[in-house]
Amino acid sequence: MTRPSHQSDPYIAAKNLTIEFELSGGRKLVAVDDVSFEINRGEILGIVGESGSGKTILAKSILQLVPPPGKIEQGSILIDGVDILQYSDEEMRKRVRGTEVSMIFQEPLSALNPSFSVGWQIEEVFKLHREHDRNTRRQMAVELLRKVSIPDPERRIKEYPHQFSGGMQQRVLIAIALACDPKLLIADEPTTALDVTVQADIMDLLQKMREETGLAILLISHNLNLVAERSDQIMVLYASQLMEMGPSARIAEHPLHPYTLGLMDSVPDIEVEDQKITAIPGEMPDLTLTRGGCVFQPRCKKAMEVCEHVAPELIEVEPRHVCRCHLFSSEYSGVTSGGR
Ligand code: SF4
Repeated sequence: MTRPSHQSDPYIAAKNLTIEFELSGGRKLVAVDDVSFEINRGEILGIVGESGSGKTILAKSILQLVPPPGKIEQGSILIDGVDILQYSDEEMRKRVRGTEVSMIFQEPLSALNPSFSVGWQIEEVFKLHREHDRNTRRQMAVELLRKVSIPDPERRIKEYPHQFSGGMQQRVLIAIALACDPKLLIADEPTTALDVTVQADIMDLLQKMREETGLAILLISHNLNLVAERSDQIMVLYASQLMEMGPSARIAEHPLHPYTLGLMDSVPDIEVEDQKITAIPGEMPDLTLTRGGCVFQPRCKKAMEVCEHVAPELIEVEPRHVCRCHLFSSEYSGVTSGGR
């Protein structure tokens, strides 16, 4: 299999990750199928794909939080060269979760505890990972709220989650996630529940954080346009497989995979009037069934005969831009590059 060109000294490098769920009757669901990626310090990798494509499970595997009966069957996740998949749960708690890698979710209100003030919730993170007295913890929490642009943090720190708007709740969650200076932030659909203006504010905040601190970000979204605008690299997942990955600007201007093209056509662009939005016909395949050919074949407008019975491999079509499609294989199509 052709892999993406190796980048220099990535902060995190996941190699050949495969995650399976053992189901009743001996059946297996492959949730992530042999996926590799790298993220440098200060870089944003956007992962896009429909619900059920494997985006969230892939992200959770970095924290070893794949829910049972899911299991990481194969692969490694190197952080600064150390394979964290070899860590015990206790080592993950002490060395990785919250301190190296943090995660924020799409529904801020359900991720916050309604019974405690936001200050208490931020200070709990310091209690777990740092040895500061109460006054210092409170000062640090106020500074964190200021850092994520919550006005009047000395007053607001005493308030409860329901007293904050959706955008402000998400800022509180970002503050909690950044409390122990992680190097990587996983943002799982961080703006889905917010209106468009607030979405832009939250994305501006994340970009400011990465510029100021060198934070690497794994941004998960079903919105390819948002990811193309805000990420350095894009990974497109479909039915647990990596379909296309490369520099965002390149994928936005010259997408290769028919699925990426379909995603682009199915997301409305608020700046374009009278645009035609076309949903991708059909549904994702049953991930418990053994596959023969290309997993996207039943929905693909460009499918060829070979696609039905030969699974395509990842091909590096241009530097750092890979695609899993027979259209780019000289063996099956005679074409070595292409696009819309
Ligand atoms: Fe479509 Fe064939 Fe490419 Fe799969 S391999 S995406 S079916 S053209």
